[in-house]
Amino acid sequence: MDAAQASLIRLALDGYLRQSDERDARYRDLARQHSLLPVLPDWSGFVGLREDGALFWVSDDDGSVSSNLTQHITHLASLRGPELFPELGFLAPVPPSDWVACSSCGGSGKVVVDGQHVDDVRCQCGGLGRLPAAVARSLRADNL
Ligand SMILES: [Zn+2]
Repeated sequence: MDAAQASLIRLALDGYLRQSDERDARYRDLARQHSLLPVLPDWSGFVGLREDGALFWVSDDDGSVSSNLTQHITHLASLRGPELFPELGFLAPVPPSDWVACSSCGGSGKVVVDGQHVDDVRCQCGGLGRLPAAVARSLRADNL
């Protein structure tokens, strides 16, 4: 992260902490406590982005913070973050040519069930249709 990017992350966190939606109150408290911007919220916690670009898992259960993230989660966070905070577009990966087609969606980026696109379910590739080879390998290993 350069200084401009760090300041964009700080501004995004400031803006997030000023929101008042009660449903997000718990995550807002955790975000404030740890100075981590929730870039990939989940039902059990969120992936938080620190000003220097480091990512951490923040558990909703006990409020603990861990830097132990899989490559897949890191990948999804880099896609979801700029969707939630458009000013963080620099986080989004530009797929290089050595990324491999997602085996789950066949490269379309869309989840298809019974021939129909399912818009509110996200493919494991995050919708890009391609994945870093290491992430694709780790997903294959998980599915064995
Ligand atoms: Zn996919």
